[in-house]
Amino acid sequence: MAPPTGSADLAHRELRNDVRTFLEAEICAGSFTPQCDSWMAGFDPAFSAKVGEQGWLGMVVPTAYGGHGRSPLERLVVAEEMLAHGAPVAAHWIADRQTAPNLLKFGTEEQKERYLPGIASGTTFFAIGMSEPDAGSDLASVRTKAVEDGDSWRLTGTKVWTTGAHLAHAMIVLARTDNDESGRHGGLSQFVVDLPNPNVEIRPIRSIDGAAHFNEVIFHDAKIPRSALLGARADGWVQVMSELAFERSGPERYLSTMPLLRAWAERLRAQGATPEQRVALGMLTSRAWSLRRMSLIVATELAAGRSPDVMAAMVKDLGSTFEGDLVDVVRRSSDIAARLNTEDPFAELLAHSLLHTPAFTLRGGTNEILRSIIGRGMGLR
Ligand SMILES: Cc1cc2nc3c(=O)[nH]c(=O)nc-3n(C[C@H](O)[C@H](O)[C@H](O)COP(=O)(O)OP(=O)(O)OC[C@H]3O[C@@H](n4cnc5c(N)ncnc54)[C@H](O)[C@@H]3O)c2cc1C
Repeated sequence: MAPPTGSADLAHRELRNDVRTFLEAEICAGSFTPQCDSWMAGFDPAFSAKVGEQGWLGMVVPTAYGGHGRSPLERLVVAEEMLAHGAPVAAHWIADRQTAPNLLKFGTEEQKERYLPGIASGTTFFAIGMSEPDAGSDLASVRTKAVEDGDSWRLTGTKVWTTGAHLAHAMIVLARTDNDESGRHGGLSQFVVDLPNPNVEIRPIRSIDGAAHFNEVIFHDAKIPRSALLGARADGWVQVMSELAFERSGPERYLSTMPLLRAWAERLRAQGATPEQRVALGMLTSRAWSLRRMSLIVATELAAGRSPDVMAAMVKDLGSTFEGDLVDVVRRSSDIAARLNTEDPFAELLAHSLLHTPAFTLRGGTNEILRSIIGRGMGLR
């Protein structure tokens, strides 16, 4: 399945071919088996280091910090291919997608020098500490507190659904530092918290397939250095909103189940397809192409330094709905029952996709919240 061509695609054809050749060689060598939702479930530090060696991580990070000074569109090409091939990219995904731009924008010189080279080499992994038990959609209700204590800060509170915290080298924590009378959005700050820390407890949360990708993270009066403050004190809300544009707009918001579509198309090609299956495959493919064009527009806006919040919300709303619809259509249209621990890789891929589907419209902001952002953008609120 080749991507649609446009000027950006033609300019990056060589890079795309290089990434495909690398991934196909890795699959042939048995380095990984394509899986759905590989940016959340495929944690493989050795694979991340190999991608780093290729120069495909920290692509937009300046060379002075160990990066490659390439464009966001080149980064997008690599990300699309990794996801469409179901490569195990979870270890480095968050760091490369949003921590690196966040550090570049708000980090001190010391923070950039300390973390960016490891992100670019695929050896430093990050987690996001935003959500709390009573602060998900309503993120401004964050209660985790950071209090100054001489040369340190002390953190107290609980984060939840923290993807990869048990394996990450650091996490970016949103905490309340000040009581701001100007409103709930004031008084929040971000911190880079190195892990492990003796006073940070990380408890696994099991998802429906038995795996433990995310966690509850409890700060028991955890001491962190003064230099851990990221950006300006009490500017955390603005910083988080800028970070969310990167979190919500990427190709992982519509490509999580693309390996299933590819496997189904291969299967139909080999076995023959009914007219109904051809129509279903065509409709899914045309939706994927449309989402790709939208995703490209958002990437171009971000590359130009703009913040396309409403468009990013649209891509995520439509994209995450598409990811789930794809699984449903393939399940209904194929003759194979979803099954775990079986010899049939297609049945296994289908089962994993089904078990991951409930998360698609929740993570990174629920679709209801995204629709309210779109409504506001349309002047309806
Ligand atoms: C797989 C996965 C990974 C995640 N990883 C991370 C992570 O690494 N770091 C992190 O910080 N968080 C993470 N999250 C958390 C995620 O951001 C939250 O689950 C999400 O923001 C929703 O918050 P909540 O779960 O508290 O639900 P709630 O906010 O309690 O919402 C419950 C329901 O009410 C609806 N609702 C709430 N408010 C409104 C409203 N105003 N209007 C209409 N409907 C509303 C919601 O849409 C939802 O259906 C992850 C979540 C998942 C599923």
